[in-house]
Amino acid sequence: MKAVQIVTPEDLRVIDVEKPVTDEKNNVLVRMTAAGICGSDVGIYHGTNAAATYPRIIGHEMVGVVEEINGDGKGLQVGSRVIVNQVTSCGHCYPCSLGRGNVCDDLKVRGVHIDGGYREYICVPAEDCYVLPDSLSDQDAVMIEPTTIAIQSCTRAQLGEDDMLLLYGYGALGSSILRIARQLCPYIIVADVVDSKLEAAKAAGAKYTINAQTEDFQAKVKEYTHGRGSTVSIDAACVKDSLMMLLQATGNAGRVITMGFSTAGTEVNQFLITSKELDVRGSRLQNKMFGKAIEMINQGKLDLTGAVSHTFPLTEAQKAFDFVDTHDPSIRKVVLTFDF
Ligand code: MN
Ligand code: ZN
Repeated sequence: MKAVQIVTPEDLRVIDVEKPVTDEKNNVLVRMTAAGICGSDVGIYHGTNAAATYPRIIGHEMVGVVEEINGDGKGLQVGSRVIVNQVTSCGHCYPCSLGRGNVCDDLKVRGVHIDGGYREYICVPAEDCYVLPDSLSDQDAVMIEPTTIAIQSCTRAQLGEDDMLLLYGYGALGSSILRIARQLCPYIIVADVVDSKLEAAKAAGAKYTINAQTEDFQAKVKEYTHGRGSTVSIDAACVKDSLMMLLQATGNAGRVITMGFSTAGTEVNQFLITSKELDVRGSRLQNKMFGKAIEMINQGKLDLTGAVSHTFPLTEAQKAFDFVDTHDPSIRKVVLTFDF
């Protein structure tokens, strides 16, 4: 079968590998039908994702059809359309004992630390498969994964209806977060450096927007939060100065959520955190949020249709990644398909 492997950074190859077979642990064979391309996949390709190891079959936004079940299918059936959880954890370390397998001491993320979904078949445990709503196409369903990341950050932020949220960055990550956040909290300020993205944020439910390049960011946050600063700030920009900007913009007793993966140094100061007694929290991947996302879709609270802008067959992954690198404004979600 065909697979896409990043051999080393900047070296993407379509390779032939053996079709996997189920065993006691990875007891479900999934035939892949759609796999999203995420910013972090592009990062692994370019060698800027510090978590990744090589060579790697990447892809963590994995949608397919159950083709074979070996033993207990936990409610799955042959033919079930599923999305596969990307997180695997050990189940017995300290974070796992707290129910936080997404930061397991022995965390293995599919498509990052172990092989992922850019291949025709994958074997996974039944409990890592989530049955898709009938209303969603396989291609649109890849968006469930970014949605879980957004649910995780809003959960880490303890976002509630009395909060004034400042969301910095309205790219793929930021727009997923806004979609979730607006269901929890009506008071959302979105900042970015691109006016067209800010217009999109406004249309998607942001109360206020700030162009962080052309406007006085701190003054605008103050103005839009009755002079007190945000109660929650989420960094979906993850650039050099964003953490410091958000520490400054957040009011006393607020929460600041980081999501970046850069290992480059960034200057912050303790006074901002201590004097305002800020909670600075990381939000990584997602912790059992697939069920929540699917529930929201089934309840009609979340519509993921129409997010996919381009598709490429798996065998043309190089073309797809090159296209994503153009940052063409028409790009929303790019999906690899398996009908080649
Ligand atoms: Mn992703
Ligand atoms: Zn663990």
